[in-house]
Amino acid sequence: MSALPPALVAAIERIADVDELLVALDFDGTLAPTVDDPASARSHPDAMAAILALEDLEKTRIALVSGRSIGNLASVARLPDSTILVGSHGAEFRFGGAVSGPELDGDERKMLDRLYAAVETVAARYPGARTERKPAGSGLHTRMSSPADADAARADALAAVAALGPSSGITERYGKDILEFTVREADKGTALDVIRHRTAASAVLFVGDDVTDEDGFAVLSGHDVGVKVGPGETAASHRVADPQAVAELLALLAGLRERKAASPR
Ligand SMILES: [Mg+2]
Repeated sequence: MSALPPALVAAIERIADVDELLVALDFDGTLAPTVDDPASARSHPDAMAAILALEDLEKTRIALVSGRSIGNLASVARLPDSTILVGSHGAEFRFGGAVSGPELDGDERKMLDRLYAAVETVAARYPGARTERKPAGSGLHTRMSSPADADAARADALAAVAALGPSSGITERYGKDILEFTVREADKGTALDVIRHRTAASAVLFVGDDVTDEDGFAVLSGHDVGVKVGPGETAASHRVADPQAVAELLALLAGLRERKAASPR
């Protein structure tokens, strides 16, 4: 028997029946259980199988929508070129294998170099802190730091970035064990609008676990379905416990969608 809530099963049954379906999925903590080494994160095998089954169907598009850079996301997700990838929360896109964005201007590029240096200087002072260079920003990872060090590193990084000046154009965002700064603002809500338009989707299923996914849930409407993974406040109408349940949800959707494709009305 399925462990999915009945209301969610009903919502999946409804969305499986739409004409053009877009399945948009966060990666870390949603498809892939969280691990200490981000490079070794992999989708739950059942989720992977369901995604590949959905990829094979007509009028069904899969998109991964992540805070990782596109290159980083592609290396851990290991999905075909037909899968749409959205990286850096929407600063980068990959459609049909072709990557676009973020196309920074000269001032943004200069500011990005200063941002890398500022965040990396701070991270070097705290045990366990790690930085990630992204095409339009810098991430400060604190999963391996003590809570006290993580708090201090974040405060220190905020101060260092503030010192780059009020006109730096840099914005920050908080995620699970990460504080990110970017010279080019992007969010998953805007990203979902772009891929919804690009795929001419009749409805969107969006699944995510982090605070940054709330921007995505906020733009859902009509026949769309939003699913929050794990605890925490959310704008999504449905919730599941973990990536195992996400895999179950995707398997259910793939089965229903395959049946629909086999008997078109
Ligand atoms: Mg996540």
